[in-house]
Amino acid sequence: MKTTILYIEDNEQNLYLVTFLLNAKGYRVLQARDGREGIEMAGLHRPDLILLDIQLPGMDGYATAKHLRSNQAVADTPIVALTSYAMAGDREKAFEAGCTGYIEKPINPGTFLAQVEEHLKGRAFDGGAP
Ligand code: MN
Repeated sequence: MKTTILYIEDNEQNLYLVTFLLNAKGYRVLQARDGREGIEMAGLHRPDLILLDIQLPGMDGYATAKHLRSNQAVADTPIVALTSYAMAGDREKAFEAGCTGYIEKPINPGTFLAQVEEHLKGRAFDGGAP
């Protein structure tokens, strides 16, 4: 099975860019457009990693992370928050909510994959790409 990454994001341009970059490296990407959908998909598909936008409609990224952490299916799954470059306080709040790391927005296509793979390290893979 391919390494699966769940991306919870409401911005279509970011969804497109991140999905493109990850697919090009052989990752399977699941998209969710809000926190509730993301929580549901995480439980169903048990992704290897979750990318979580903080600014989401309805339930924000912090609340979403807390819900994810209370779900047995993904209790140990890395959750990487996507935070605004300018908002330093977001990072502490993201860690407090249960995130394991963060990547700053705007997404830099030149470094994004390396950043994601840093958070996948140490995970038990089942023969997934790459
Ligand atoms: Mn957003």
